[in-house]
Amino acid sequence: MNIQTIIKLLIDAGIEEREAKKEVKMLLEHFCNYTEKDEILGHPITEEHLRILKNKVEARLADRTPVQYIIGESYFMGKFFKVSPDVLIPRPETEILVTKAIELIKEHDLKNILDIGTGSGCIACTIADRTNAVVLGVDISSDALRIALDNVTRLGINNRAVFRKSDLYSKIREDEKFDMIISNPPYIPIGTELEPEVKHEPSVALFAEENGLQLYRKIIMDAPKYLNKGGWLIFELGIGEASAVKSFMNEYFEGVNFEGVNIIKDFENRDRIIYGRLI
Ligand code: GLN
Repeated sequence: MNIQTIIKLLIDAGIEEREAKKEVKMLLEHFCNYTEKDEILGHPITEEHLRILKNKVEARLADRTPVQYIIGESYFMGKFFKVSPDVLIPRPETEILVTKAIELIKEHDLKNILDIGTGSGCIACTIADRTNAVVLGVDISSDALRIALDNVTRLGINNRAVFRKSDLYSKIREDEKFDMIISNPPYIPIGTELEPEVKHEPSVALFAEENGLQLYRKIIMDAPKYLNKGGWLIFELGIGEASAVKSFMNEYFEGVNFEGVNIIKDFENRDRIIYGRLI
């Protein structure tokens, strides 16, 4: 048995070669403490390492558990975040969202941020870690919030990213005002067929009614109550949802209007991020 045999187990199960190599690397690093540095220095991968790897790959393939849940961690914007099946695994697309949010926060010196549907807390924690803003992350799931709390402790930013159980704005007081509302809400239309790995993720984090638009609608409708004047609203978008969300942000609801609504594309040239400023 060698490392190629292990990679092949994944490939034979239908996992793309690049992904298979990446996953083996992640497992080696996490369970065998064997890093890229060891590879560069020519340290051998031992029989013991291979035995552990095979074990983990078999567990991964038995029911297509995402490798991040096996490891219990996921890499996001340069840091490792704790994850479990109680939270969505942070996606590379969400890095585009957070990068833009950080840019706006710095440019306009924004102070108070609300992250709706915080899940693992990856968005809230990264913003608190990289800017001077204070972030409140809310989620409907207590199990998700437990993970978010672990992540904030890991990063050592407890007083700047705080969490609260709340169904959207339900536990936000109207005198709590924010300079930005950010959200990567559940946006997959109910009934969409998903990859077997995605089925391990919490459905409350994935699916939304109204063709995937329900949470955008609810967040946008009430945003003016919780945003300071000129405050920003920024979302990650599901596929094909940009124009509906844009129209929600532009006077679809009485008294709700955002200016300069802009869309950013993802790596595959799909509309992925939308943001605008409350008028
Ligand atoms: N905010 C978390 C993330 O972006 C969780 C989002 C969700 O569960 N829909 O990864």
